Amino acid sequence: MDIQQIAVIGAGTMGNGIAHVCIQHGFQVTLVDISIAALEKAQQQIEKNMERQEKKGVLSSEQRATALQRLTLSTHLEEAVANCQLVIEAATENPTIKRQLFENIDKAAPTDCILATNTSSISITSLAAATNRPGKVIGMHFMNPVPVMKLVEVINAYQTEASVTQSIVELSKQLEKIPCVANDYPGFIANRILMPMLNEAIYCLQEGVGTVDSIDNIMKLGMGHPMGPLQLADFIGLDVCKSILDVMYAGFGQAKYAPCTLLINMVMAGKLGIKSGEGFYDYSAGTDQKQVSIRFR
Ligand code: NAD
Repeated sequence: MDIQQIAVIGAGTMGNGIAHVCIQHGFQVTLVDISIAALEKAQQQIEKNMERQEKKGVLSSEQRATALQRLTLSTHLEEAVANCQLVIEAATENPTIKRQLFENIDKAAPTDCILATNTSSISITSLAAATNRPGKVIGMHFMNPVPVMKLVEVINAYQTEASVTQSIVELSKQLEKIPCVANDYPGFIANRILMPMLNEAIYCLQEGVGTVDSIDNIMKLGMGHPMGPLQLADFIGLDVCKSILDVMYAGFGQAKYAPCTLLINMVMAGKLGIKSGEGFYDYSAGTDQKQVSIRFR
């Protein structure tokens, strides 16, 4: 399928990154959100990140200017998807919001338009079932920060047509990403392997097996991970980690996916990691000056 016009729905952390890589690689993009403030913030973020790419020599100033001209902002979903060959949904991780969005997009987009979702944990098969084109629905799971991270986890819903998978694999390559195909089971591949590891690191802290520093340093220095698991959990957001584990626990019914008590307590206490200023680390002096949270010293 010849994809030229893309609508990205949701202009938050992931939506602005997805719009960035799409305009950088020659696609026309309409970025849609219900919030004008979110759209303006996304545009500023894209401009700032492209300036950084220019300083690093990744983009010339001409390429940056041309890429930015390919971006349109909109609060009108139906209008934005009407002439697209691909919609990438990256709205808030909430099944009711996403199901409603898929129903609305399905009514307004051309019948052969592919509908992709960036969901981390919601069943893609259930989103496909909310549309009249289930074979054209697929997961396109980018990693944060999108302009930097190479992986796109391409997830087949139960109904996805093979030609749609092929189109999304090809598109991912055009975005200079590396697509890896998975099937639609809770957590897909990335989170099914990552989240139990982060949960186990939190168990180690809860049980006093090690300190925050020893747990993170062992995984950094011993396993070559760029970030320790507790730091990574703070970066992702402890609420996000808990909700993905909840989905896997509900989906598989196996105790190994149940979020550990310390994680549950921290989420209830509003200690969500970087986004709340404190998780396993304290970010009150900025993310570069992080220190182990006083609770774990
Ligand atoms: P976010 O909260 O930063 O942004 C979500 C945006 O969606 C907000 O700007 C919100 O206004 C908008 N929105 C909500 N309802 C909408 C609607 N009906 N129409 C249009 N816009 C709407 O969230 P995020 O972190 O960017 O996550 C977006 C998606 O990407 C989620 O499905 C999440 O699971 C997934 N994801 C996130 C990460 C991550 O690290 N943040 C990584 C991979 C995948």
